[in-house]
Amino acid sequence: MSAPVMSSGIVAVAYIVAALLFVLSLAGLSKHETAKTGNTYGMVGMAVALVATIWVVFQNPGYAPGWQAALVFLPMIVGGAIGVWRALRVEMTGMPQLIAMLHSFVGLAAVLVGYNTWLLAENLAAAGTGHDAVHLTEVFLGVFIGAVTLTGSIVAYLKLSARIPSKPLMLPARHVMNLFALLVSAGLLVWFVLTGGAVPLLLMTAVALAFGWHLVASIGGGDMPVVVSMLNSYSGWAAAAAGFMLGNDLLIVTGALVGSSGAYLSYIMCQAMNRSFVSVIAGGFGSGAIAASDDTDYGEHRETTAVDVADLLKDAGTVVITPGYGMAVAQAQYPVADLTHKLRERGIEVRFGIHPVAGRLPGHMNVLLAEAKVPYDIVLEMDEINEDFPSTDVVLVIGANDTVNPAAAEDPTSPIAGMPVLEVWNAKDVIVFKRSMAAGYAGVQNPLFFRDNSSMLFGDAKERVEDIIKAL
Ligand code: NDP
Repeated sequence: MSAPVMSSGIVAVAYIVAALLFVLSLAGLSKHETAKTGNTYGMVGMAVALVATIWVVFQNPGYAPGWQAALVFLPMIVGGAIGVWRALRVEMTGMPQLIAMLHSFVGLAAVLVGYNTWLLAENLAAAGTGHDAVHLTEVFLGVFIGAVTLTGSIVAYLKLSARIPSKPLMLPARHVMNLFALLVSAGLLVWFVLTGGAVPLLLMTAVALAFGWHLVASIGGGDMPVVVSMLNSYSGWAAAAAGFMLGNDLLIVTGALVGSSGAYLSYIMCQAMNRSFVSVIAGGFGSGAIAASDDTDYGEHRETTAVDVADLLKDAGTVVITPGYGMAVAQAQYPVADLTHKLRERGIEVRFGIHPVAGRLPGHMNVLLAEAKVPYDIVLEMDEINEDFPSTDVVLVIGANDTVNPAAAEDPTSPIAGMPVLEVWNAKDVIVFKRSMAAGYAGVQNPLFFRDNSSMLFGDAKERVEDIIKAL
């Protein structure tokens, strides 16, 4: 067997091994118990893929060895160093915006690969081989998906990091504009495939950048979880498109895995929030009919103290804790785990109710509770716990707001109307841990705070939970 054939055989095997490891990784990540192993499979798969890809580059006779090393290792060292630096510094609360930013890089990479591939195709055309319609279509679609992912992810980053308001941008005729952008892009695709020229490609890039920006800007805070998983999916398809353009099978497989799993996650999120998938990805279709109900007067709220909550807990038989984004902000998961342990030692049944979109990332609360070593078997999903609230003595709502908002179930004009929520108000007593009466991420007031069986425990969630532990 000749050396190049043997070497391409090794690379093919390495790619298959890496692809299998990615599949195992996804399977592992679907359950708490196997998530760590799943991560390890993913990391090993990525290492195999990297080594194999670098090997391929070094087999390319087109570059002098010195140049190859510089082109491969210099960006890797610089990019890797920036990645390690950011990963070490990022707070758990900063993860969603970091992920959104990383998605934008995948989009940018697909755009750059697309232009690069087009320039190569231009050279071939200049040499008289003509344009390959399939190749040009790949370039066009790759740049389109990449550009939409790029600006969409930047807007998601700005919204998630609160640099711009999370309220939806309601431009008049926004759906017509979106449809128009798609139709114009389809026309430009035909023009591009027929001529291979720069003008349709540049025009489409401008349209796709504006389309991605508008698509995410017009989605409200409550629907952002779907946007995050949807952009995750887009980044996968952008990577797959780059794989087609570069003729790299592993990139195609990996991109398709990310794209399809992200799409499925978006679908699950939509189901959890009782939203139509199509309407969310079309930019908050239908949300124009809904008015925010911020001005409603819900009456007076009651305040309580850590000592009173400790007394209430001492007499309780069943306690449910429903954490939300505020637990992540306060980093209260460790004292919450400690409180859980202390209450269970007293023979009190403690369980957790996790809303599918609590926090700012799919699985955000599960990660925090696992980090603090809360046993998995007492961490239940919303559907598993909702029926048990009427027989629960005390619910501790720790930094959650939208996910426990009764307006979602009771007020059809609310921006979160129809979203299933944790029905904590059915319990005997509800204690809400937060710092003020401010609204949640969706920007709507929460009538739960004014119910007769609710009391507010104001202050930083971590400090208040520690106070309760002391008082116990
Ligand atoms: P919310 O974001 O609705 O509310 C969090 C609450 O925590 C706030 O009202 C805030 O009130 C309180 N809080 C903040 N910091 C602290 C602190 N240090 N101590 C105590 N309380 C604090 O949280 P939920 O988890 O209930 O809902 C998640 C929202 O985020 C949903 O609207 C969801 O759609 C959206 N979202 C979810 C994503 C996901 O993938 N999970 C992604 C993007 C958005 P105060 O300021 O008064 O303290």
